[in-house]
Amino acid sequence: MPRITIDGHEVEVDAGATILDAAEKLGIEIPTMCYLRGHEATTSCMVCVVKVVGANGLVPACGTPVRDGMQIESDCGEIFEARKAALELLLSDHVGDCMGPCTMGCPAHMDIPLMIRQIVAGQLPEAIATVKGDIALPAVLGRICPAPCENVCRRAQHDAAVSICLLKRHVADVDLSSDEPYLPACAAPKDKRVAIIGAGPAGLAGAYYLQQEGFECVVVDEHEEAGGMLRYGVPESELPHDILSAEIARIEKLGVRFRLGIRVGQAISMEEVRKQFDAVFLAVGELKEGDAEMLGFDPSEKIKADGTTYATGISGVFAGGDAVRRRRMAVRAVADGKEAARSIAQYLTGHEVVGPEKRFNSRMGKLAESEMPVFLEPASAEARIKPFGIASTFSIDEAKAEALRCLRCDCRKPEACSLRRYAEQYGARQNRYKSARRPFVQRTQHPHVIYEPGKCIDCGICVQIAREAGEGLGLTFVGRGFDVRVAVPFEGTLAEGLREAAERCVAACPTGALAFKDGRKSSAD
Ligand code: SF4
Ligand code: SF4
Ligand code: SF4
Repeated sequence: MPRITIDGHEVEVDAGATILDAAEKLGIEIPTMCYLRGHEATTSCMVCVVKVVGANGLVPACGTPVRDGMQIESDCGEIFEARKAALELLLSDHVGDCMGPCTMGCPAHMDIPLMIRQIVAGQLPEAIATVKGDIALPAVLGRICPAPCENVCRRAQHDAAVSICLLKRHVADVDLSSDEPYLPACAAPKDKRVAIIGAGPAGLAGAYYLQQEGFECVVVDEHEEAGGMLRYGVPESELPHDILSAEIARIEKLGVRFRLGIRVGQAISMEEVRKQFDAVFLAVGELKEGDAEMLGFDPSEKIKADGTTYATGISGVFAGGDAVRRRRMAVRAVADGKEAARSIAQYLTGHEVVGPEKRFNSRMGKLAESEMPVFLEPASAEARIKPFGIASTFSIDEAKAEALRCLRCDCRKPEACSLRRYAEQYGARQNRYKSARRPFVQRTQHPHVIYEPGKCIDCGICVQIAREAGEGLGLTFVGRGFDVRVAVPFEGTLAEGLREAAERCVAACPTGALAFKDGRKSSAD
């Protein structure tokens, strides 16, 4: 049996085994996109390349049989760059949006398309959980947010943006007026205390997410009531105080404590706060003269904090919202609070403070005129719906009808897609190798499965699975060169090509090219 070494570790494998098999035996992870265990290696994606010491160039681990005495390197700068370039080539002609344009336009990156689908399905309890996963004060923002998400909503390219902000308000209002408004689960207490200075949008959001992670949060504010600029800066005609108070009450219900009418720097020094708490989040809003100094910063400057981690130069002290940079929109302050909470949690649990996870997002940008009908096909043709009456709030039927206008721009497999995962891991960029974008196409004739050729990486896995399943028509490659794509032979439909193997193909497809129409996960995910 051949013995080889990978990264200095020796392993014995069966004759005929590949480098990938040997790496697996050693527990060394080598990324693969076009290879499916137990199937023929097509070596088309070149993401699994490794180096054979003494040989020129790199070889694909999935298709290279081991030879006795081989020495392999699987982890060095050259390999990293080659894998990254292979991913960037795959991405150069990739046509799809991992997240909807609306989600990317929302400063809090709320999963808007998911909320909308939940409204359509009548799943309002699920919808409020989706909303509050990113936005701590949705009933408040549903009234005052200028809705930057709507500025980039794809539907606007056809007639008018989906009324996202009012849909969010609808979900939040229905929840708040229910007998038991939504309360997320909190992790077990972690025996760490966080002082949050300022009960405005950034501070409230920070407390909401930190408390959920098991940290004991105390919000300190100089005013007699919580809310900051939401209570003392926004006219009550725009934002009724009872709505604000109701959402703050949910945060209190989580266990967050409020110490109001206390000005840090006067009633209690910043030094004392730092002594009593394990971390501090400064969310004091726009600084007034003398504030910076009282909080322990250079009196001539604003509070300085890192743009990604919100860490100030003082250990354990983080800052966000208007205290650091002017946030014209309350949603931006709410997003700061959520993101700072990530960093504070990392700090308190002894992890490297890197801030929120940065997700890769493929974007296809503006649609060509010919592409719009593909998106419009499953959506309602109705014009943007205005709430009936003076209350500016949707009824359940209006909300559903408006939600049906959404074009479902997001991908159906954003969490199961290997291309996205590896693009994140290798820092791959979509536009390194420029090429003209192919048109966006969907094949929707199958009752459950959708095929989007622009997301196909031509791995051939589905072709092999269909063949093995004995599908009469099955799948094949059509076209030439860069235009080669998987298709059903003789111009058959997907339903004709995949009578038995559709679900297996969805599970094995490494991208969102083959997915369930309703976005459900396959059993293999
Ligand atoms: S297939 Fe993957 S990379 Fe492409 S849009 Fe979907 S999740 Fe993003
Ligand atoms: S149409 Fe729907 S998914 Fe697309 S950008 Fe607008 S709200 Fe988002
Ligand atoms: S559709 Fe088929 S060939 Fe294309 S990426 Fe998915 S499994 Fe591979």
